[in-house]
Amino acid sequence: MPEQYDAIICGGSFGGLAAAQQIGGRVLIIDRLEIGDGETSASAVPIACLEKMDMTHVIDQVHEEIYLHTRRRTQKLTFFRFCTFNYRQFCEDLFARTGAEFVRARITSARAGRVETTAGTFEAPIVIDSAGWRTAAGKGGEKAARASRKSFGVEARQPYRGEGLHFYVGPSRGSRRFYWAFPAGDHVRAGLATYTGASDLSGDLERFCDDLHLGPPGKVHGGYFTSRLTDAVRDGMFLVGDSAGMCLPVSGEGIRPALVFGQVAGRLAERVRTGEMRLDQALSAYRAFVQSRGKGYRILDRLQSVLNVLPDPLFALFARYIATPRMLRYANRGYWNVASPDLLTADKAADPLPATAVPA
Ligand SMILES: Cc1cc2nc3c(=O)[nH]c(=O)nc-3n(C[C@H](O)[C@H](O)[C@H](O)COP(=O)(O)OP(=O)(O)OC[C@H]3O[C@@H](n4cnc5c(N)ncnc54)[C@H](O)[C@@H]3O)c2cc1C
Repeated sequence: MPEQYDAIICGGSFGGLAAAQQIGGRVLIIDRLEIGDGETSASAVPIACLEKMDMTHVIDQVHEEIYLHTRRRTQKLTFFRFCTFNYRQFCEDLFARTGAEFVRARITSARAGRVETTAGTFEAPIVIDSAGWRTAAGKGGEKAARASRKSFGVEARQPYRGEGLHFYVGPSRGSRRFYWAFPAGDHVRAGLATYTGASDLSGDLERFCDDLHLGPPGKVHGGYFTSRLTDAVRDGMFLVGDSAGMCLPVSGEGIRPALVFGQVAGRLAERVRTGEMRLDQALSAYRAFVQSRGKGYRILDRLQSVLNVLPDPLFALFARYIATPRMLRYANRGYWNVASPDLLTADKAADPLPATAVPA
């Protein structure tokens, strides 16, 4: 007999842990890696996310400014405050708060009520797919389930001390490279990504580290990040984070949306567990909430297509334009609201979709 739970979470990273934190009862998290072992990102988020979740103790460094380096000039942008943080500590501490059980196994298929893994089959009325860009759909559903559009990035950690989040815009040759250097206390997270999904980036990473005098890159990690929102409900499951293409186009910021949509899905799931809502009602409410953010995603998606091919001098002009106070105010507000950290909480939230969830 498959073991029974109140809820099963497929994938124990940002989206999965945020969802689990909101659900009571017997919750199972399944991941192919130990909690905290699967870092793919530079782990930079708006500091408000960690403040709202009462997780500021995992911060490595706070960043007041963003610097956008194009070939001829450097543009300083004052968006909201960001920070780089310790992924392992974040995951381990959030997992401890969830009170969930954990099974280390590879998920081979997941659908409403049932998850099959290399460690056996598990059942629950609520299933949340937060297994990242691969999704938990398994071989049969994989192709349809995976996001249609993916960027690819790699990153290394090198000894360094500095300030601010730095982005470097590579020349447009049909597949522009975007580089970053994010200081995090005693090291810098240096990497690059392509919007086209081109993945042969090791030579570019070596050159970039060399240009910044960081030395040859040590251990390299990375992978795909989804950049187009898909349906957030599939086969009777909530889809959270990269499994639903929630990583923000242009910036590749995927942690904040995974946390925000993860908590919202978790709160709705909790209503199902306590009998306040039927599963179909909760799934519909979740789908509607995610769709209410669709416009922001579509704008960023179009902008990403343009930025990929924009000639270099025009890119520099774009950077100057976005830095004007009026434009920056507008961009800040829109970019924040796509996945507003205001929706995050440290405890279980009383209201699944608080007033601030209503789109502006
Ligand atoms: C190089 C790079 C740098 C990035 N930097 C940033 C950044 O600085 N800030 C930011 O906001 N975003 C960044 N991103 C994007 C960000 O990493 C993702 O959007 C974010 O991790 C999505 O969270 P998630 O919980 O949806 O998925 P993930 O973090 O990918 O977690 C998925 C989990 O599911 C597990 N899993 C997957 N398949 C299976 C399976 N079949 N069976 C069992 N378990 C499975 C994995 O082990 C993993 O733990 C970056 C991405 C890349 C590639």
